[in-house]
Amino acid sequence: MRIAIAGISHETHTFLPDKTGLEDFDRGATRGQAILDTHRPANSSMGGFIQVCEPAGVELVPVVYSSGGVAGTVKDEVYDKYIGEMCEGLAREAGTLDAVLLSLHGAMVTESRQDTETHILKDVRKAVGYDIPVMVALDLHGNIDPAILTKATAIFGYHSSPHVDEAETGRRAARALLDMLAGKTRPVTAMARPGMVVPSIFSATTVSPAKDIIGRVMDWQQKPRVIDVSFFFGFAWSDVHQLGASAVAVTDNAPELARVIVDDLAQAAWARKEEFAGRKGVFNLHDGVAVAIDKARTASKPVVLLDHADRLNDTTFVLHELIRQGAEGVALPLLYDPEAAHICREAGRGNMVEVMAGGKSSPQAGGPVRLVGRVEWVGEKRYMGTGPMTHGERQDLGLTAIVQAGGVWVQITSRRHSLIDEDPITQFGRKTSDFKIIVSKSKTHFRAVYEKVAQEIIIVDAPAYSPVDLSVFKYKNVPRGVYPITRE
Ligand SMILES: [Zn+2]
Repeated sequence: MRIAIAGISHETHTFLPDKTGLEDFDRGATRGQAILDTHRPANSSMGGFIQVCEPAGVELVPVVYSSGGVAGTVKDEVYDKYIGEMCEGLAREAGTLDAVLLSLHGAMVTESRQDTETHILKDVRKAVGYDIPVMVALDLHGNIDPAILTKATAIFGYHSSPHVDEAETGRRAARALLDMLAGKTRPVTAMARPGMVVPSIFSATTVSPAKDIIGRVMDWQQKPRVIDVSFFFGFAWSDVHQLGASAVAVTDNAPELARVIVDDLAQAAWARKEEFAGRKGVFNLHDGVAVAIDKARTASKPVVLLDHADRLNDTTFVLHELIRQGAEGVALPLLYDPEAAHICREAGRGNMVEVMAGGKSSPQAGGPVRLVGRVEWVGEKRYMGTGPMTHGERQDLGLTAIVQAGGVWVQITSRRHSLIDEDPITQFGRKTSDFKIIVSKSKTHFRAVYEKVAQEIIIVDAPAYSPVDLSVFKYKNVPRGVYPITRE
């Protein structure tokens, strides 16, 4: 049996000023045997495909995989190159393939394609035809259009945000595929869209109401004749026609059951829409920082200050405010600023430096912070991830500098990453317990580690690119009636 595997991933924030180009996809692209070697041990959908197919004696045909991360609209040249390469590779093998497994995101937008994943499926079908199954693993934050189900045999979304189950999602898709190919099942699908979108901060599946929706997904997943159930929370900062959450069910030739499941999930989500869009538990900048400083005085573990609205890992609103309010024992890992990292390298380890750091990506980034302090560490930094989402994956921070300036320990990097595990602190010889306040710019992924590490998590809505308050954006392509988007 021969099964092709391929993929491309991007979570596109269409309101960001900069586009995402080829260099962002080329950097981590893998092809052929390298896909198997890289992903076999990884917590990725591709890894899950491999982990199920290889032991089952499947001959895998790895084509191409690339991820461009989370950033602005993807240039069309990326689609042309990577989907072109994917479909050429598939077309070469067409006729000898029994199936295709794809790893996609679900919220990728290119300059001329709002629903990129459906376009990819159309092109894949052109390459391999309609006689073989094509199963797709997707991110829980996908804005999924029902059109994709006219091209894909079935789709499978992560059940967890933090995405600790990426490989498990790939395994779900691969197991469903092998059962189908063995003639044990006949998958049919249904989708329902409740007409709402969820800012990522409220898609944390360890916290209600997202926790309750996923609980319901898991209940349905156990029922007879159910092959798989997903709930996609959508990606709010994307001006696309298919913006919004969706429920998807895959049953064994039981279309009515699939319909019942997705309607149930869509209604359950709609009933909680105010909570999903609300500002409950979110502080403004001044109050959030003040509360964190106050709690940190008596806390036995660090307080995490969650600066969730930053998409470019360089906004400085929270850092400015921490300094203004005289915070002590602060760690701000992973502040993106290659220019400042170079200035620290010129100063040299152990020496004093004065540097304007962060806040440079756009006028909305808060402006640089003047740091005067000692360079604690400087150099190129690469390591193998040890966190639940990154274990076995090579992490590259590029040229990195750590400056201890008064009460703040600021780690300046040359690659954009969010703090989702302890590595950016522990890989530099420090412990998270060394600090009273730790700033993370993650959305939900940090919870897999920091719900245990932290005394408390304080969420701050800073005026950056991905605030909870969606009314600051002008949506043009989203149809009227998608809660809570307002259109004039
Ligand atoms: Zn996601």
